[in-house]
Amino acid sequence: MKIPKTADIVGIINKIAPVSLAETWDNPGLQVGDPTAEVTRIMVALDPTPAVINSAIAASCQLLVTHHPLIFKPLKSISTATPLGTSIQKAIKAGLSILSLHTNYDIARGGLNDLLADKIGLSDCLPLKVTTTCELVKLVVFVPVDYIEQLRSALFPFVAQQGNYRDCSFAADGIGTFSPLEGAKPFAGTVGIMAKEHEERLELLLERAQLPRAVKALLAVHPYEEPAFDIYPLLNEGEKLGIGRIGRLPLPVTLAEYVNTLKNVLSAPALRYVGDPETLISKVALCSGSGSSLLRDAVRSGADLLVTGDVKYHEARDAEDLGMALIDAGHFPTEIIMVHEITERLGRALVASGYTDCQVEACRTETDPFNI
Ligand SMILES: [Zn+2]
Repeated sequence: MKIPKTADIVGIINKIAPVSLAETWDNPGLQVGDPTAEVTRIMVALDPTPAVINSAIAASCQLLVTHHPLIFKPLKSISTATPLGTSIQKAIKAGLSILSLHTNYDIARGGLNDLLADKIGLSDCLPLKVTTTCELVKLVVFVPVDYIEQLRSALFPFVAQQGNYRDCSFAADGIGTFSPLEGAKPFAGTVGIMAKEHEERLELLLERAQLPRAVKALLAVHPYEEPAFDIYPLLNEGEKLGIGRIGRLPLPVTLAEYVNTLKNVLSAPALRYVGDPETLISKVALCSGSGSSLLRDAVRSGADLLVTGDVKYHEARDAEDLGMALIDAGHFPTEIIMVHEITERLGRALVASGYTDCQVEACRTETDPFNI
């Protein structure tokens, strides 16, 4: 029986939504709890509300994973006179850790904005506002000819995708030399005698963030006692990641038709929109949650429409003035979709890591705070 610790789940979530992608004002990560505690039951929810925390405790969970962080601003006190203080105290007393994702998950590939784009029928999506350009490095490793396939297989999971191409590498063969000294246990050759080995020079392009894991994988499979490898910084720009998405509908539809489609696919009780209902929509910008600050980015990117939540009156007026159609689908309907997705992805990742005795469940009691 292999039971994960809170820190192991933090590691899994960090692969889905690397904390390094988060906006600077944000506070994702472990909010409350013990990184070394064992976790056999996890609940996933949108908000760490008192009701959700109670549900997680009642379901005997040791970890609650939420989209919105419990703690945003630095705390000056933890008093049970406030709902936040009570939540923190209750969670600690019950041995419930709370882990949040947030803007790192919005921005990540396959994250909440991609999930929303998929849900509302968009394809060929790009970030609406770039926040991160992935730094690239080149890893060059010299390996005996017979070991190159094994090394390629170990390193390919870390290789950067180039457009629609993955598993990109280059190899050329040559002769490596080395003289093992006293105390060495060489894979080939004899102590005190210069050896000449037929080696391959394998070149791979990696995102900088993948480098530590790639080097660990290299060291695990390379047969040499002292593997020779080089890491080159590059001026090439990697993939651009960012907040919001812009994509295309398969066929143009009127704004009125699209409003109805969104109401159904997002199970939204009501949608507010700005613009002529007969306007044809084909290029759509979106931002889950609160994204009306991206209105001008949507205009610049040539979108016909921005789909988001939390739109204020003057922002609706701005959209009207700019001639940009706008749909306020609500914060909750555009983000609650993450609960099912993270429950599924976390469940699969736990099984893949051999943690078969840890269960993940979706919180089923959350509702939109707004009644219509
Ligand atoms: Zn949100």
